[in-house]
Amino acid sequence: MTESPPPSPPTPPQGRPESREVIELRRLKQDQPDLAAAADLQIELLQVQRRVQTRVPLPSIRLETEYLNSLLANGPILKFEHLPIDWSDLRFLLRATAAAMRNHDALEADDQRRADELARQADRLPGLVRSWYEAGQPGGAAIDPELEGLESLVQQAMRPFLTRAGDAVMARSDLAAWHKGTCPLCGGEPDLAVITVAADRLLICGRCAARWPFEPLTCPFCLNGNRSKITSFASRDGQYRLYACDVCERYVKAYDTRHASRPVMPVVDGVATLPLDAAAIQKGYR
Ligand SMILES: [Zn+2]
Ligand SMILES: [Zn+2]
Repeated sequence: MTESPPPSPPTPPQGRPESREVIELRRLKQDQPDLAAAADLQIELLQVQRRVQTRVPLPSIRLETEYLNSLLANGPILKFEHLPIDWSDLRFLLRATAAAMRNHDALEADDQRRADELARQADRLPGLVRSWYEAGQPGGAAIDPELEGLESLVQQAMRPFLTRAGDAVMARSDLAAWHKGTCPLCGGEPDLAVITVAADRLLICGRCAARWPFEPLTCPFCLNGNRSKITSFASRDGQYRLYACDVCERYVKAYDTRHASRPVMPVVDGVATLPLDAAAIQKGYR
């Protein structure tokens, strides 16, 4: 049981159709009942985020192609100041995300209390969220100890602001000149990849969902490019691939559009590939 009052229920406003992600998550639940709990959590998070998403403004950065491309040379492009964060919306998102995660046993009761406490600290919240954002960039300082263990919760709560900023910049810039394993926009790590029909691989940022091209058989985490030290295998239906690095022991999963009936959907594909995660962890990767 929780001590603080729960946020209002995350039902979508009447009459608005469900998003494609929610429809796909429901289909996934039906096809693979083992994944129902994980799918339900993501459905609830999408519904929470949707309440804020439609009113997030553009990021406060000049959205001109030439200017954005010039920033890429010293990327990542998006500084914390550019993010279109509405602080009262973020406080709602922190509480509602914590409640959803707790409902689905994805958060300890103590961590839910910490998240609620964080949402109450209006004065300190901007500094703490900046610490989270910058700690997730290459060479960033350590995260504020107050947020330790709450990283994935903050990431979920920040999603409407980060994806809005990411979409706006991605639509107006050319990321082909970027060759790093971390996100050209926010500096985050890839969470998934997509293999195009031309067999190129695009990495997808776990924070802002930006996509950028990256060598198909190089590890984005340690840049190991020795093919004999990359273990790759596919899911039984051929829909997903996993590339594991035998140097740093990390892995990245990919949605293979060459065998697909729909475009990549990171939230859905993240749930659909949980069995692949289990297989990779069993082989000693992390
Ligand atoms: Zn990013
Ligand atoms: Zn590696």
